[in-house]
Amino acid sequence: MLALEIANLKKTYTGGQTALKGISLTVKKGDFFALLGPNGAGKSTLISILTSLTLKDSGTVKICDIDIDKNFAEARRRLGVVPQEFNFNIFEKVAQIVQNQAGYYGIPRRLARERTEMVLRQLELWEKRNVQGRMLSGGMKRRLMIARALVHQPEVLILDEPTAGVDIELRRQMWNFLQQLNCTGTTIILTTHYLEEAEQLCRNIAIINQGEIIANTDKKSLLSMLDTNTLVLELAKPLKKAPVIQNAQSVLSDSQTLELTFSSRIPVSKILYHLETQKISFTGIRNKTNRLEELFVRLTAKRAS
Ligand code: ADP
Repeated sequence: MLALEIANLKKTYTGGQTALKGISLTVKKGDFFALLGPNGAGKSTLISILTSLTLKDSGTVKICDIDIDKNFAEARRRLGVVPQEFNFNIFEKVAQIVQNQAGYYGIPRRLARERTEMVLRQLELWEKRNVQGRMLSGGMKRRLMIARALVHQPEVLILDEPTAGVDIELRRQMWNFLQQLNCTGTTIILTTHYLEEAEQLCRNIAIINQGEIIANTDKKSLLSMLDTNTLVLELAKPLKKAPVIQNAQSVLSDSQTLELTFSSRIPVSKILYHLETQKISFTGIRNKTNRLEELFVRLTAKRAS
């Protein structure tokens, strides 16, 4: 069974900006799926179409086999959404915010109270239940957004850039929580522009760029495309010619900057050893490759060929 099935989805905003150029995408139930892409790729547009905050121009969307055009309420019930921006009433108390959401889904009051307690405990917010939303720290506000999205026990949880601007500790906590939730059977779909986040968490990854899906595969196949490293060395003394370094492609970008590209299977120490034997010393070293950018270059080249 599929958690999400999107076919030929198109959206052009009234200003003329095309955000989605006819994308198709499926996510299996139980999956932990990343929709990865740079800013402006169309990720938020896609999510807001799922919740009908934005209207699509054409295409179909099914959530757990339910077409949003045929039975939006039922489809929406299967879905929990955590948007990027905090959008709760900051003057309401934490428990009230979550309980009201349960009310929107028609959950009877007593059950809503039980569920509210359950999700607030799960997200370590129970102590704050009587505090106004505005009094919470940034991390707690994020957790509140997740608690609110889970109170109606959706089968699919979608998070839009869940860790953008979040510190490392909170990011790790959030990752752990999402992994546990996925283990209990909830399908998780997140958008991110961090390759590392998709790499850490997800089993399958689709890459979206300029409103088009340019890759949709399992994580391992995708990452296997990233099979080279490039080191940039600031040389202690200028060179006229790029030195020949065993197992590496060697290019002088200027007389004092040497770029060495080599297979990621070769240890960096081996390359440095070859430099030393040729008495080439350097004052600085950095890894050139932005892995996500490299992935984009490769995928785009692959499509063009
Ligand atoms: P992402 O979430 O991947 O950063 P978005 O879906 O926000 O991408 O944006 C996709 C494109 O649509 C961008 O070019 C953006 O400028 C444009 N866009 C997004 N929202 C609107 C809007 N409400 N009106 C007009 N253009 C928009």
